[in-house]
Amino acid sequence: MPALQGKIAVITGGSTGIGLATAKRFVKEGAYVFITGRRQAELDKAVAEIGSNVTAVQGDVSNLDDLDRLYEEVATKKGKLDVLFANAGIAEPKPTAAVSPEDYDKTFDINARGVFFAVQKALPLMKEGGSIILTGSGLWQKGVPIYPTYAATKAALRSFVRTWTADLAGKGIRANVINPGPVETPILKGQFGENTEAMKERFKTMVPMGRIGKPEEIASAAVFLASDESSYITGIDLPVDGGLAAV
Ligand code: NAD
Repeated sequence: MPALQGKIAVITGGSTGIGLATAKRFVKEGAYVFITGRRQAELDKAVAEIGSNVTAVQGDVSNLDDLDRLYEEVATKKGKLDVLFANAGIAEPKPTAAVSPEDYDKTFDINARGVFFAVQKALPLMKEGGSIILTGSGLWQKGVPIYPTYAATKAALRSFVRTWTADLAGKGIRANVINPGPVETPILKGQFGENTEAMKERFKTMVPMGRIGKPEEIASAAVFLASDESSYITGIDLPVDGGLAAV
């Protein structure tokens, strides 16, 4: 039987990169997937690529009304939620001296607050066997001068998952974080522009496996954590990073 047969999943930031690759895999594994994102055109493209068993709900994870609308749609269409992949995130590399209060709020609103309320508002729909998966980053435990706010939001996710492990285990709901290393997605170009190729070469020298990851490799880890194959795993921080966090 496919790993996610009959499961209902929500994937935030599901129209590109890691979220899109995961949506495709989840559907292949038998799930019905709701994807969210801010841009309708990107969502439409993603729905066409995923092909079937998918609904797109346009919305911003930092907007609580949008999150309510998302879960209302899940409740109306499917009546339950088995898997939440809270994956949407942004990275705006700037050293501490250059971060404005607006930059700070934007990064925390999307990457930390957006994840917190996406999870809180999902809980009424989640029952025994539910799986919450967050997309963190290996940067949560590193000191890299251009990522003061980004890395702190990802450290917050690591902490949320520990709390939810304790809080939700009694309800049969698991919570884990995947920490990708550098992965080939639009987020790289968004951060580094014309220097993207040079940055990728630099990342390669830092990763023991000597290459950038593929979004499909993160999707494989998400399938594992979403499925009953990981039924005794909660509270973990799973690096999917070619060994980067280990060295
Ligand atoms: P991506 O830019 O393709 O995906 C991010 C997704 O989040 C996009 O679809 C974007 O539209 C969506 N998003 C951003 N802000 C949103 C908001 N306010 N509301 C709803 N959706 C929003 O890049 P990706 O690499 O696939 O990123 C996915 C996650 O992986 C992010 O949380 C990112 O921090 C994390 N990550 C990526 C890498 C990497 O190297 N690619 C490494 C570590 C962690």
